[in-house]
Amino acid sequence: MIAQVIVDIAAKQTDHIFEYHVPDQLKDVEIGSRVFVPFGPRKLQGFVVGLSEKSEYQGELKDLLLVVDEMPPLTPELVSLSAALANKVFSYRITILKAMLPRVMRANYRKLLTPISADAKKLPLFQGDPVDLNEMTDVKQIALARNLLRNNEAKIEYVVENRAKKKTENQYSLTLAAAEYQKIYDSLRSNAVNQRKLIQDLLQHAEDYPKKQSVLEKKLTISTATLNAAVKKGWLKKSSVEVYRNPLAGFDEKSSKKIILNDEQENALAQIYSSIDKKEAKKFLLEGITGSGKTEVYLYAISKALAKGRNALMLVPEISLTPQMVRQVKTRFGEKIAVLHSGLSNGEFYDEWRKIRRGEVRVVVGARSAVFAPLKNIGLIVIDEEHEATYKQEDKNPRYQARDVAIYRSQFNNCPLVLGSATPSLYSRARAQKGVYQLLRLTKRANQKKLPEVNLIDLKHVEFAGGQFDLSVELVDAIKKKLENKEQIILMLNRRGFANFMLCRECGYVMKCPNCDLSLTMHKDTGMMQCHYCGYTEKIPQRCPNCQSSQIRFLGTGTQKVQEELTELLPGARILRMDVDTTRRKGSYKRILDAFGDHEADILLGTQMIAKGLDFPNVTLVGVINADTGLWLPDYNASERTFELLTQVAGRAGRAEKRGEVIIQTYNPDHYAIKLAQTQDYERFYTYEMRMRHAGNYPPYFYTVLISVASKKEQNAAREAFNIKRQLQGRLHPETIILGPTPSAISRLKNQYYYQILVKYKKETELNAILHHIQDSAQEVKKYGLNVYIDNEPERII
Ligand code: ADP
Ligand code: ZN
Ligand code: ZN
Repeated sequence: MIAQVIVDIAAKQTDHIFEYHVPDQLKDVEIGSRVFVPFGPRKLQGFVVGLSEKSEYQGELKDLLLVVDEMPPLTPELVSLSAALANKVFSYRITILKAMLPRVMRANYRKLLTPISADAKKLPLFQGDPVDLNEMTDVKQIALARNLLRNNEAKIEYVVENRAKKKTENQYSLTLAAAEYQKIYDSLRSNAVNQRKLIQDLLQHAEDYPKKQSVLEKKLTISTATLNAAVKKGWLKKSSVEVYRNPLAGFDEKSSKKIILNDEQENALAQIYSSIDKKEAKKFLLEGITGSGKTEVYLYAISKALAKGRNALMLVPEISLTPQMVRQVKTRFGEKIAVLHSGLSNGEFYDEWRKIRRGEVRVVVGARSAVFAPLKNIGLIVIDEEHEATYKQEDKNPRYQARDVAIYRSQFNNCPLVLGSATPSLYSRARAQKGVYQLLRLTKRANQKKLPEVNLIDLKHVEFAGGQFDLSVELVDAIKKKLENKEQIILMLNRRGFANFMLCRECGYVMKCPNCDLSLTMHKDTGMMQCHYCGYTEKIPQRCPNCQSSQIRFLGTGTQKVQEELTELLPGARILRMDVDTTRRKGSYKRILDAFGDHEADILLGTQMIAKGLDFPNVTLVGVINADTGLWLPDYNASERTFELLTQVAGRAGRAEKRGEVIIQTYNPDHYAIKLAQTQDYERFYTYEMRMRHAGNYPPYFYTVLISVASKKEQNAAREAFNIKRQLQGRLHPETIILGPTPSAISRLKNQYYYQILVKYKKETELNAILHHIQDSAQEVKKYGLNVYIDNEPERII
């Protein structure tokens, strides 16, 4: 048998398929297996993408060295998806195959020098154990190793170690017949309480054995010592079994009240059911205002897929932010679910992933990369909050959009895809308008409650409470009222830290990151100035670093500062802050949200992470401290993002009995994105914004590709960008627009200068080939310190 392998090399032959002979002992190899192969003098990782009987190759094929995992980590579906995706996102197939593999499964590859002869085994070098060749630094030892290998006194063994290890637990099984245990029981003294408990359990529940240590200790309240003694006496046999870590342990299932679906929900479901039944790869856009009961629709649809004997995949924007969603899914589907997201520990992720791969779960809930979950027989895919920018990976290759991958998987599995949102992306909504997606609407809040009333406060003409310019008197008064009524408040400020720049009044110096073209943010709690892009920190200065003047000011605002102001203005109010700084530790999101849910705090103050998906019935006021933070970014979809964020956060208010109220503070009350967010009028926003996009030749009227060039030397980045532009010019459709090269809006990040070219097109036959050529040349210019990135349909064009 011959294996076709894509080898992990970053050179000219990237993505070339190499053939290897499969030796007898590796006959189990499958498509999707991860293998190690000899490659020139090296041994490299690769993925099997095909198997065949014969080879066209004339020479002698080398043997596969080893198969890494017990079970191929990738399914045939994922292997074929990697090819389709590589073509679409201008990334190499090997990059995609590696990205499909969870980070915790990326292996350490060790070369172990293992003694064979008796003499070799006695050498002090080994002390009985193999030695890692890569860790050998001593010249004499290396020479010795060479000699041993030459004389066949030692050999090399390749070992692959996953970063995550399996977890095991002791389990105990019976060794004797019931009659024997009865005898033992009768012979026990009455004060041997623990032993009696144990033997009694052996007698009464023999059929439940083997039992795990944790189960025994907990149920019988006995100690490990008792168990050890029992093993010693031969009453029990101890062995070790693999157990899964359980990331959902803290998610108590909530008692679910029986919900009667309303007509709109029923209607939406009828359409989705029909597609599930017919195994149609149909795409639905479920547009439902906040609180209209979209989640309920997803859950029913998932049940339907399961009832048909198929599985379901559900994507959410950032799972650690939506513990409530996870809880609901767990309540409905119990042990059948697995979750995948970055908040899991390595071990948890490894276990969840393997449960999926082994076919032990039916429902997968996860963030962006879960779209590559090795789930088989998918009968439904759901993408909640489909408009979220997090579904696009933009900071590294492959620069893929999870929505596109989901479409591919729905086609492969012949199953419907449901995209849900209160504020669909213009992209998806435009497709629904054209009939490419089927539009399903939920227009009313599920509990018949009205949407909250939204008031705009014009910060240009307002009295501020306290000495700062963050909180208007009106907002503070509204908060006070809610506090008196024992109701809760959510406040959003999309900026963390204390003050976002330091200005010298003497010389005008602004303190910037030495690596990036960005000002440093003051973090009062840590006493540091911090770059929010690269993480650079230095001490908060007492004097201007430039002219030594003491006349320095810290301007702008952030969540830390507002927290301080609130504490001063509202003594006694209990405030929780949720931003990147307070949620670094594992499980901290959930802790903060649980505490707020239990009314251990009155105010939840946070960045945009608190805008989405939260359902707290006692929240009756939502305040937006500054609606303008994202409005003037030089980005074509700044308005869409602003509208979306305000609408989403407003939707957190008044979700239960009491009517909600929203206060939005802004310097731009006349901007359409803010005005239309006030009335939460998606339809009018859609119509208006589509006109703007049409006028500016932007998506969804045009497709876009962004090519960025980065280098430590600014001239080199610019030169290469012009070079790329020349390759595009004259070869594209006359309607196609090429903008740039220009320096990017933030022209330097992590000491790299960025230049970019934006291609906007409607129809192109040549572009794909040219871009693939540019991708290949990018590999070549890497050695000159130039990095070229191609982003197909970027979410941000700045
Ligand atoms: P969305 O995801 O659209 O914002 P949710 O699914 O969170 O809305 O639903 C909002 C609230 O309405 C939830 O508390 C949910 O339990 C409730 N709900 C959903 N459907 C119904 C229904 N048919 N009748 C009554 N309550 C419902
Ligand atoms: Zn100065
Ligand atoms: Zn920086």
